[in-house]
Amino acid sequence: MSDPLFFSSAVVRAPERLVLRGGRWSFVDIPVRYGLWQHRQFGPVLIDTGYTSRITEGRERSLSLKLYSAILGPRLIEATSPVANLRRYGLAPTDVSHIIVTHFHADHIAALADFPKARFLASGAAYEALSGMTLRQKLHNGFFSELLPADFRERLISIDARPSVTLPYDLGSGYDLFADGSCLAVPLPGHALGHFGLLWPNASRPLLYATDTQWVLQAIIEDRAPSGPAGLIYSDRNAAAASLKKVRQFAGHGGRVVLCHDPYDHTACAEAAQ
Ligand SMILES: [Zn+2]
Repeated sequence: MSDPLFFSSAVVRAPERLVLRGGRWSFVDIPVRYGLWQHRQFGPVLIDTGYTSRITEGRERSLSLKLYSAILGPRLIEATSPVANLRRYGLAPTDVSHIIVTHFHADHIAALADFPKARFLASGAAYEALSGMTLRQKLHNGFFSELLPADFRERLISIDARPSVTLPYDLGSGYDLFADGSCLAVPLPGHALGHFGLLWPNASRPLLYATDTQWVLQAIIEDRAPSGPAGLIYSDRNAAAASLKKVRQFAGHGGRVVLCHDPYDHTACAEAAQ
């Protein structure tokens, strides 16, 4: 497993027009992906976690999380949950050494508590900023602190404490997460506090996981980012436009781009190959 594999943890139904400017009004199933990658030295690494039943079930959930789940109505795909996929590879949750947390939205952190031995590679600055917010501000930022393990702070490795590097493909500067050049963090601000993507420069084809820079790759390539409700989620519109340009340039260099939610990128979901 030298290239990362991506799987759908759940799907959310939404009109295509919500995720692609000029798209149809008909509904599409939008996947909620996470990744699994085998690091040569550290072993299994997860890239975010997708949704789990911590979002959709449980009386102990806060009212705001219950509402969030009721509004979005994610349908979980148990067969390709992180734990189920690890089992398929003969691995247990305790084998996961690191989880790269690209940002703190609920669909990226929902299962962090399932991996008791993992260290978390995330933006420490974003975590500190979110932790200091009022409940209202947290909700405005799509952050449900109840989803984080109680010892998150102790297990956090801030990405900006990793060696900084000049990224190839005009991607600017970033961080070498494992100090071996295998997986580089690519700051892609605009979508959420601390949002970053990941570059595997030595994958079989250079691969950029551009996370939530956009919903649909077509919107990046054809400059069709949706306006309206989907645009409201941006934390910084100007920064989001600059990030989108970076990703488009990378695709122009022939790199492969994977997004968390693209419903049309069937090559990104490894479950088809299982
Ligand atoms: Zn997000």
